[in-house]
Amino acid sequence: MIDVAKTAGFCYGVKRAVDGVYKEIEKGNKIATLGHLIHNGQVIEELEEKGVKSYDRIEDIPPEYAVVIRAHGVGENVYRAAEGRQVIDLTCPFVAKIHKIVKEHYDKGYKIVIVGDKAHPEVIGINGHCGESAFIINDIKTEIPPELSEKQLCIVAQTTINREFFGEIVQNIKKTCKSTLVFDTICSATKDRQKEADELSQKSDVMIVIGGRESSNTRKLFEICKRNCPLSYHVETAGDLPAKITHNKIGITAGASTPSGIIEEVVKAMSENVKNEENFAELFAQSESKTLNNGDIVEGIVAEVRNNEVIVELKGSKYNGQLAADQLTNDPALKPSDVVKVGDTIKVYVVGVNDGEGKVVLSRKKVINEEGWIKIKEAFEANKTLEGKITKAVKGGVIAITDDTQIFIPARQAAGRFVQDLQSLVGTTVKYRIIEVDDRRKRVIGSVRVILEEERKEKEEKFWAEAEVGKRYEGVVKSLTSFGAFVDIGGVDGLVHISELSWNRIKHPSEVCKEGDVLDVYIKDINPETKKISLGFKKVEDNPWTIAQSKIAIGDIVKCKIVRMLPFGAFAEIIPNVDGLIHISQIADRKIGKPEDVLSIGEEVEAQVTDVNWDDKKISLSIRALIPTPIPEEKEEKDDTDVPLNAETLVYSTNPEVEVDEEIEIEPAEEPKVDEAPAEEEPKAEEKTEETEPAAEEAADEADAE
Ligand code: SF4
Repeated sequence: MIDVAKTAGFCYGVKRAVDGVYKEIEKGNKIATLGHLIHNGQVIEELEEKGVKSYDRIEDIPPEYAVVIRAHGVGENVYRAAEGRQVIDLTCPFVAKIHKIVKEHYDKGYKIVIVGDKAHPEVIGINGHCGESAFIINDIKTEIPPELSEKQLCIVAQTTINREFFGEIVQNIKKTCKSTLVFDTICSATKDRQKEADELSQKSDVMIVIGGRESSNTRKLFEICKRNCPLSYHVETAGDLPAKITHNKIGITAGASTPSGIIEEVVKAMSENVKNEENFAELFAQSESKTLNNGDIVEGIVAEVRNNEVIVELKGSKYNGQLAADQLTNDPALKPSDVVKVGDTIKVYVVGVNDGEGKVVLSRKKVINEEGWIKIKEAFEANKTLEGKITKAVKGGVIAITDDTQIFIPARQAAGRFVQDLQSLVGTTVKYRIIEVDDRRKRVIGSVRVILEEERKEKEEKFWAEAEVGKRYEGVVKSLTSFGAFVDIGGVDGLVHISELSWNRIKHPSEVCKEGDVLDVYIKDINPETKKISLGFKKVEDNPWTIAQSKIAIGDIVKCKIVRMLPFGAFAEIIPNVDGLIHISQIADRKIGKPEDVLSIGEEVEAQVTDVNWDDKKISLSIRALIPTPIPEEKEEKDDTDVPLNAETLVYSTNPEVEVDEEIEIEPAEEPKVDEAPAEEEPKAEEKTEETEPAAEEAADEADAE
């Protein structure tokens, strides 16, 4: 079995140069190359036969000859010397790019460092773009001159050197030089060829490496193969092949300057040399590059994953393709290594073949988008729910990605409610449905909202089917208003009225909860017609009146605090949120004009519980009951002021929620008789009328208001 390396033979730059010269020959021009066009004696001979001459110095080239600059490129001095002459510049675009980098940075004051062989024509040419001032290094042991440590360095590489070697040299330089700008200018063609030779030679019994003996890249290939496969042969032509090869697994590769004709000859010769039933000519033809056209969709194997691009071995083609990171996936958050790994087979779209920079430019996004479009249309027709990650916010909406396909979701469709900051959705995973597909404009619109609406409706139906008064829920506070909190109890919202939020008196629901809080609520009332749900939140066991009932009994003496005063009496807090009324007549053991005459707000007093009405939440207190009654020395007549108070008269609601019966009022008729009151406190008759009667009216008004 014979395996011919896909990368065997001309690289892009060499092929371009050779083709360029043949084109000029066809035009009938007289051609002279500056140095041998390529490192291959057979090709040079063939060119010489066609009249192409080769000179080492431009000055030696006769004026009637067009000057060909080969793929290695030349320095600025050569271009200057060629001024006024016909120049056919076939410098490889990869090399020309290095010239540009070097020139620009040299002009900016950088010291140029070239990692490569100073005798190699390519390195000589690069050095010619910085006034031949570059520091050239090709050995890890070379000492870095101390004067470089003070300079800004611009480091470039000869295109054909080993990348690891370049990295080591750069690290070495960085140890002493702090300001370095590094350009990895190594050509992937060389690396790819070496990598394939390495792999092929590991699985071959015999390796044939074809190429000129002067060709450094061929020599390097041979070294690699020999290391893995002791039976490796470096041949220039088929004539150099060993006499007889009887091994089964034979690998063939060739240097960058080896024309396909020579490779073909070697393969043919092998077919006679080796008893192998395979048709080698056919094998070679199979290994030859398949013509790639712009717009082709082809399969490739990921050969290398870099930070900013992926190198893809295109099946059936001798060239590798370059897939820029932004053409790999639609998800901008992903790095190439998140998407593919070496060895993966991927489909790619050929954007350009051998363009200005000599690359096969690929796009995977185009393939994804094409395939994605079909899937999206199917999902639309089937009304299928899709899942995707929102990757970015754009004008008017967000972009979601599903199976690497981008879907636009307008802002109003991006959530169940209006979202001011669309950026806050980026990174979230959403379920959505395609609601619009425009075939002509290749436009597709998704909606998260339709899914949320459906889910909400479903939950709502379930809720109403199971809802009943008293049922408890763990609800989430969705919004607050001045009159209460709206709580989501599983797809539907109910209202917890402000009075239901706390046993304490609160001015706003925010004193108890905030949006997002989870509350343990129960249904107080529901109306399936109007879909209104009243929720309760307060716990019965926390009801201060329930607590009071277990602690307070008639006759008890309690400590309480004056919290409010009205003309007919003072309210005193016995326990938090439970107030009792000390009627004006029970504040002192004498007649007083108003409660403030004796008491003040905040004052702590002791009082006796004289009556309770738990149903109406009323407690009557008396301070007077605790004041010892002096025993009159001689008192025969009954003091009307001691007439027991009518319970109805004295019991007032202390609970603001409970209305006081209208008929509960101060009974003026029972006011102490003026002429029976102690002489020093006795008001005048006119005063009594003016004070007591309005006081009674006010009391009734207050009671109503309460
Ligand atoms: S830079 Fe690469 S493509 Fe250009 S001539 Fe050199 S090896 Fe060939």
